[in-house]
Amino acid sequence: MYMLSQSSSTSGSSFQQLRPQSRPLLKQYPKKRQGNRERSFQSTWYNAFSWLEYFKDADACFCYPCQMFAKDSTKEKAFIESGFSNWKTAMESGKGFKKHEQSEVHMRAMASWKAKEFCEKRGQTVRNLIQVRPEHKIWLKTVFNTTKYLVAKGLSFRGHEENSILEEGLSGGLYLNTFSDRIFPQDPHLQQISTNLPTNAKYTSPEIQNGVIETLAEIVRETVANECKEAELFTLMMDGTTDSSRSEMEGVALRYWNNSKGGIVEHVVDVKLAEDRSAKGLVDIATTTLEDEGEI
Ligand SMILES: [Zn+2]
Repeated sequence: MYMLSQSSSTSGSSFQQLRPQSRPLLKQYPKKRQGNRERSFQSTWYNAFSWLEYFKDADACFCYPCQMFAKDSTKEKAFIESGFSNWKTAMESGKGFKKHEQSEVHMRAMASWKAKEFCEKRGQTVRNLIQVRPEHKIWLKTVFNTTKYLVAKGLSFRGHEENSILEEGLSGGLYLNTFSDRIFPQDPHLQQISTNLPTNAKYTSPEIQNGVIETLAEIVRETVANECKEAELFTLMMDGTTDSSRSEMEGVALRYWNNSKGGIVEHVVDVKLAEDRSAKGLVDIATTTLEDEGEI
């Protein structure tokens, strides 16, 4: 059992103000001898990796979203704290940048970054649209409800292919097919609204789907965290299973007294990859999950 404090971390939340990304374009980056020749950072790497940052003083690069959103800086430390400057292996397959991109820490941070961008860039646009065009509000509500339905059922959003344009005969994706096969036949007015929407206001691209899911997840986590604070005491439960890639995944659930419901509730708040299955590794998972919740 854990006693909750009242402190709440805002790190990585939608409300955090992010600093600009550091991507200076220099005529010449400092050279240093690595292997058999002089090497330096290359500005062309920015094009290949949207997350990449370079700091001249450190002559090292970092990962922007991991610095902003990663909850556990002990993994991928070079890209979060100490800086990466092994230019020789930077672009090698399975090493450097590409290895970092495959890490769970990075993928989670990227999802949070995209979600935040979604909230910021689209949020204002959505508000403007809603003020001017009430039908946009109706459409957005349908997008969120469809997302909620598929997420709650644990259904995959995409098939082998996904057509991003609703009018062009869909194939493959359950998410988009839900609109064409289930929603539009029942509601021709909604189909009419969809047809008249500009492409950038349909909110159905894969990136926006992830953004909507992450936004919903943030709302759920915030609700659970607030209920836990109110309950003051809770039980943390963990159980692991091996997925199809033979990776050990640990589900983390919280059990607590819910005042408004007048009963005990349980919520799964995260499923994490267990790279270290020792007792310490599992305790680390529990601790970082609680920190993610902003509760200890
Ligand atoms: Zn990263």
